[in-house]
Amino acid sequence: MRLRTGMGVDAHQLVDGRPMVMAGVSFPDEPQGPEGHSDGDVACHALCDALLSASGLGDLGEIFGTSDPQWAGASGSVLLGEVVARVRAQGWQIANATVQVIGNRPKMAPRRREAEQVLTGIVGAPVSVSATSTDSLGFAGRGEGVMAVANALLIGD
Ligand code: MG
Repeated sequence: MRLRTGMGVDAHQLVDGRPMVMAGVSFPDEPQGPEGHSDGDVACHALCDALLSASGLGDLGEIFGTSDPQWAGASGSVLLGEVVARVRAQGWQIANATVQVIGNRPKMAPRRREAEQVLTGIVGAPVSVSATSTDSLGFAGRGEGVMAVANALLIGD
């Protein structure tokens, strides 16, 4: 049995008037959201890169290049579903994945279980969601942006 781990990191700037979607969950009351080519859901993007790196398929930029109109504006959830399909098509099973959201907003704690359910549904394997702040340090601590770190474990034959 082959086991492969992978990791992914993503960050986006937070700007006024953009919808806040994080870890597949919408936060309609947030005044700011991630700037980006898509919805800027850093949790989904980090999970994509964790799965892609574990499977050796590359990374998000390589697969969904910003110049490719097919994926222009695609939500993080849609990209994650596509990555899961591609990883499975290579013969991998996904054992589990984890993602940690790093920043001041959105407040993940009240929505954490919901996010886990949404992401677990997309990935087809348990996805754990956690969150942390940075004690006011760096761009995340100043509220200029939000980031996420993820990992994934794949099982092969
Ligand atoms: Mg991104």
